[in-house]
Amino acid sequence: MLIVGNWKMNTTRPDARALAEAVAEASSVARGSSVRVTVCPPFVNIETVVSAVSGSDVLVGGQNLHQSESGAYTGEISGRMLRAAGCSLVILGHSERRQYFGEDDTLVNEKCVAAQTAGLIPIVCVGETLEQRKEGMEEDVVSAQIAGAFKGICPEGEWLPVVAYEPVWAIGTGLTATPEQAQWMHALIRSSLATEFGAEVANRMEILYGGSMKPGNAEELLSQPDISGGLIGGASLKVDDFASIIRAAVHVST
Ligand code: PEP
Repeated sequence: MLIVGNWKMNTTRPDARALAEAVAEASSVARGSSVRVTVCPPFVNIETVVSAVSGSDVLVGGQNLHQSESGAYTGEISGRMLRAAGCSLVILGHSERRQYFGEDDTLVNEKCVAAQTAGLIPIVCVGETLEQRKEGMEEDVVSAQIAGAFKGICPEGEWLPVVAYEPVWAIGTGLTATPEQAQWMHALIRSSLATEFGAEVANRMEILYGGSMKPGNAEELLSQPDISGGLIGGASLKVDDFASIIRAAVHVST
């Protein structure tokens, strides 16, 4: 099980250090379990966080990368830079990137290739908007996002991408998919992954739920058979809430 905190554009360096140290301490409860904890700070705080969690099992991820390895792309960060800074994972295609920065499935696919080249595990975010759900389009939207993101991708060795199902209407809104709604979509995602990679690979892939996951709903969501962890925004900035979600994951996975 994988629990990932997406800090988004929050934390200055001292905040990031304090939060990372607290997460490292809270994560000791996961030692010996199958639960892995990851935090994704803003780029400028990655190295601070890597040093704050050293000696713990907490992994560090980026929130985005540029699809090229290097070059004249002012303001951008490559997968190789993330890897060199100590990242193991990277969030790709978050709905905020799609909505505010115009990222589409083709670009997410290019970024996925770049992550694989750099040796980073991508956490590819998919999910429908409220309008799409109201029109009954959620299954088509999410299946198309999976097919688009993973076009031509071939998992090799230890490199297995992660998917995060994040209904856009549940992100930062306090609304959460019911465990039944989430499980239904996760099963659909797993069958789309089986189409892309075959059933054996799809069954090993982790599919996270994201969208207002918090202490009060984490255990029920994480208990669903096709939910293999959480991508957590708001609650990952409050160490007590994040610690409680980690404990729920440990409880579910043992
Ligand atoms: C997210 O942005 O990935 C997210 C799930 O946010 P929140 O938990 O705040 O809904």
